[in-house]
Amino acid sequence: MAPERIVVFRFYEELNDFLTKEKKKVPFSYSFKINQTVKDAIEANGIPHTEVDLIVVNSESVNFSYQLNNQDHISVYPVFESIDISPIVKLRPDPLRETKFILDVHLGKLCKYLRMLGFDTYYRNDLEDPEIIDIAFKTHRIILTRDIGILKNGLVTHGYWVRSQDSKLQLKEVIRRFDLQKNIRPFYRCTSCNGRVRKIEKEKIENLLESNTMQFYNEFYQCQSCEKIYWEGSHYKSMRNFVEEIVEN
Ligand SMILES: [Zn+2]
Repeated sequence: MAPERIVVFRFYEELNDFLTKEKKKVPFSYSFKINQTVKDAIEANGIPHTEVDLIVVNSESVNFSYQLNNQDHISVYPVFESIDISPIVKLRPDPLRETKFILDVHLGKLCKYLRMLGFDTYYRNDLEDPEIIDIAFKTHRIILTRDIGILKNGLVTHGYWVRSQDSKLQLKEVIRRFDLQKNIRPFYRCTSCNGRVRKIEKEKIENLLESNTMQFYNEFYQCQSCEKIYWEGSHYKSMRNFVEEIVEN
């Protein structure tokens, strides 16, 4: 008779978002292959490894390369849900020093919102998955996507599956997940090109302004990359309200 190869998984908190109904928030059995790693088994259950922060097997924390043994009891925790046990095995390289993002092609609106709040956000609507992964790796960016598949790629170290389909809720979700409240810097980055925006004296750009703008406004900002000019016009107020709404929640 072939030896049994069964482990028991229990996934915690928002990792349940990826599980089928009968596996949500309960321990369940999983029959594994010879030499299967815990990382592979977690992804086989639908959860990208980038969502996982802590794996505990029979009361000890292990890394992704741990090979499953019969009757293992495995608890899997998402980022920020780590319980207090030691020693903890770190699952990925140190957190990226500055929170920078690269967005999947379908998240154009979220890109605009993130830039509006000052976050360094790379976006192009013509990128293929391998390009996104490559740019993320080379420029130390976190991949945000609604496509779980890209996060299962072994080359991805930092990524997050955006749950919501509404772009404002997506923004709130990302801010909460990466704890970005205190890093919000409105009017810091160009929403068109991600460049840095700086205050500029009116005299220096007078020739570029329409007469109405010229007449009614005195405070101007300019993107250092694409030279787009911003001022506290009608957009300003709605943007201000938007920022305040996000900051308060
Ligand atoms: Zn710009």
